Amino acid sequence: MLKILVVDDEHVARRVVEKTLTRLGHTIVLAESGEAAWKKIQEEHLRFVITDWNMPIMDGVQLIKKIRATTLPSYVYTILVTSNSKDEDIVEGLYAGADDYLTKPFNPAELEARVAVGERLLALEDNLTLANNQLEKLAMVDSLTGLLNRRAIYKFARGELERARRVSEPISVIFLDIDKFKEVNDQYGHLRGDEALKLVAQVIKERSRAYDGIGRWAGDEFLVVLPGTTAEDAKNAAQRIIEGIKLVELALPKGGVFSLAASAGVATQVKVTGAVALLDDIIQTADEALYRAKEKGGNHVESSSL
Ligand code: GH3
Ligand code: MG
Repeated sequence: MLKILVVDDEHVARRVVEKTLTRLGHTIVLAESGEAAWKKIQEEHLRFVITDWNMPIMDGVQLIKKIRATTLPSYVYTILVTSNSKDEDIVEGLYAGADDYLTKPFNPAELEARVAVGERLLALEDNLTLANNQLEKLAMVDSLTGLLNRRAIYKFARGELERARRVSEPISVIFLDIDKFKEVNDQYGHLRGDEALKLVAQVIKERSRAYDGIGRWAGDEFLVVLPGTTAEDAKNAAQRIIEGIKLVELALPKGGVFSLAASAGVATQVKVTGAVALLDDIIQTADEALYRAKEKGGNHVESSSL
């Protein structure tokens, strides 16, 4: 059901429209002038307007022109009600931005039908907005683990680095890679491998703070961004995650379990000066620390400060 704004300077005309539409279950908001209507549209985010044409000061066409000239939160569907039934008047109304028109006196069934057309159009707009939001979300999320994807975690890190610079706080990142993950795939199959990646993502999430950013960087590599975190705290966080991953047990189809291990490289930028160019240096430093952790045989954390 819709919330419809009915605009007319004549009380009786407003009542006629109100009665018909209320019967259909719509909620009606009334305005007795173009100016009052314009105020209500902005304040109450109304999306459906039925307006009389002839009104003093701001008439229906002027109101519609104002609606079309303004960026509002969503599309406003407009029906112009007119006693000007000449073709050129209707053309003028439609060119001004009206979606539809009704000529006075109108029959209630026609009003109902025309409102139904508008309702369909607004429902289409809702579906489109929903689909756009979903696409936007998909573009940021790694579909296997539900974590941020590489692009999104990079964007998050860039934003946090900028914030760290403004508020003079440190920032740390953890680069984490599962040890000998190729063997997991080879021995237990790719599907079990996928299962393992999901569980690792879960552990990282459970063992991080709500305002840390967690992303899947690539394959079995994860990047955690820890705003306002010192080198020591970040190293402890990495250690906590690595220990959590050691506890993961994956069931095998024929019975038994296998477990995982991971290594991490931590990099901390103690004082952030320039922002964006720095990010690649921080990630690079974490990657080098990860390399050292792997060289020490895995299941290990190494860290560096910049
Ligand atoms: P290391 O201890 O040096 O990290 O050895 P590793 O075997 O883990 O080597 P590396 O990190 O280079 O290999 C990552 C492997 O992850 C290679 C690839 O087969 C596997 N992989 C990447 N993406 C996916 C995925 O989406 N699902 C599964 N199951 N495996 C993946
Ligand atoms: Mg690996």
